[in-house]
Amino acid sequence: MNFKIPYGRQHITSEDIDAVTNVLHADFLTTGPKVSEFEEKFAQYVDSKYAVAVSNGTAALHLCAMALNVTKDSKVITTPITFAASANCVRYCGGQIDFCDINPDTLTIDLKKLRAKLQSEPKGTYQGVIPVDFAGYPVNLEELKEIADEFNLWIIEDACHAPGGSFIDQNGKEQRCGNGNFANLAIFSFHPVKHIACGEGGMITTNDKNLYDKLVQLRSHGMIYQGNENLIENHGRWYMELQDLGYNYRLPDILCALGISQLAKANDGIIRRREIAKIYDEAFEGTKILTHRPASNINHAYHLYVVEIEKRKEVYDLLREKGIFCQIHYIPLHTMPYYKKLGPYDDLINAEKYYRNCLSLPMYPSLKDSEQQYVIEQILNLTNK
Ligand SMILES: *Cc1c(COP(=O)(O)O)cnc(C)c1O
Repeated sequence: MNFKIPYGRQHITSEDIDAVTNVLHADFLTTGPKVSEFEEKFAQYVDSKYAVAVSNGTAALHLCAMALNVTKDSKVITTPITFAASANCVRYCGGQIDFCDINPDTLTIDLKKLRAKLQSEPKGTYQGVIPVDFAGYPVNLEELKEIADEFNLWIIEDACHAPGGSFIDQNGKEQRCGNGNFANLAIFSFHPVKHIACGEGGMITTNDKNLYDKLVQLRSHGMIYQGNENLIENHGRWYMELQDLGYNYRLPDILCALGISQLAKANDGIIRRREIAKIYDEAFEGTKILTHRPASNINHAYHLYVVEIEKRKEVYDLLREKGIFCQIHYIPLHTMPYYKKLGPYDDLINAEKYYRNCLSLPMYPSLKDSEQQYVIEQILNLTNK
C-alpha cells in the first residue's frame, strides 16, 4: 500500500512557510509582536474580548484551573468522552474529577444528567464544570450556564475541537465557541490534527479582565512587568516582580506567525469540513452506520467525523489494510487505570456504549473527493458483508 489516508492532518501552504521564515529573520523569536497579533486576531475570530496564547492546549487548561483557584478541596465535573487533558488539569492542581455521562445524540455532556447529579449532592459539592465541544459539536452553553448559576459553578469550555463552531441561542443570536458569553474561560489547541496547526500551541479566551490579567501573569512564571499598576515596589526600568508561582507556558513568535497565517484560512477550512460531512451523511443515509447530524441550531465545526458501526474492531483493522487510518475518540477516561483507581463514578452507560462502536473517519480540508469516495466505498463494502 503506497498511500495512507489519516483521520486528520494539517494543511501547510507556502504562505505559512513564508510567515515563519519572516519571523526567523526578525528581531523577536519569542515575546514579540506576533504574540499579541495572534491573540487579537484569534479573539476576533471567536468573538471574545481577550485571548492568551500558550504553549499547548494542556497548558491552557492547567492555567485555567489555576486562575479559577482549583485546589485539593475542589471537585470538578467533565465528560468521559474527551482527551485526558480536560480532566488532568484539575488533578495538576490537586483537585478531584467526577464524570457526567454523555447525551447519545450530541455525544457531549448530558445536561439533564448533569442537573440530576448536582441535585443529588449537597450544594457546594462541586466548584466547576468542563464541557467539551466534542468532535466540533458546540455544547449549548446558554443552558449549561443556567445550571452553573444555580449550583454556583464556574465553566471552562474545552473548545479544542470547535474553533469556528457556534450555536443559535434562545434569542436567535449566534454564539461562537469560545466567545466567553457563558463560560468563564475557553481553551483551544493548535496541535497539527486540530483546525489551526502551529505544531504545538494553545489559546485561552475570556471576557473577564481579572482572569485575563491573572492568566498573562501565570503564563510567564507569575511575574508582572513594568507598566503593570499592581507592582508593589519599583526599583527602576529593569524591575519586575514575582507575585505568584507560575510557569513558562509561552508560545513563541515563530509559532504565532504560523498560527496567524493558518487562522486566515480557518473559515475556508470549516466550509470544506462541512462539505465533507454532508457527503458522508448522505452516503450513510439508510445504512446500518449510525451518523450524528447536528440539531438545527448547531453550526458544527467537524474536527472529527464520528460514526458508530457494528464490528468496529474488524472494520478498523480492515480499513488499515486498505490504507485508511481511522481513529477512536475516545477511550472513556473513567476506564483508564489512572482514573479508575480514583473512582468510583456514576454509571456512564452512554459513554461506554458509544465507545464500543465509535470510529472517526478521515476529516480534514485537504481530503480529496476521490479519497473520500474510496473511504466510503470501503466502509460500505465492509458493512454490507
Ligand atoms: C487536543 C486536545 C487537548 C490538548 O491539547 P494539546 O495542545 O495537545 O495539549 C485538550 N482537550 C481536547 C478535547 C483536545 O482535543
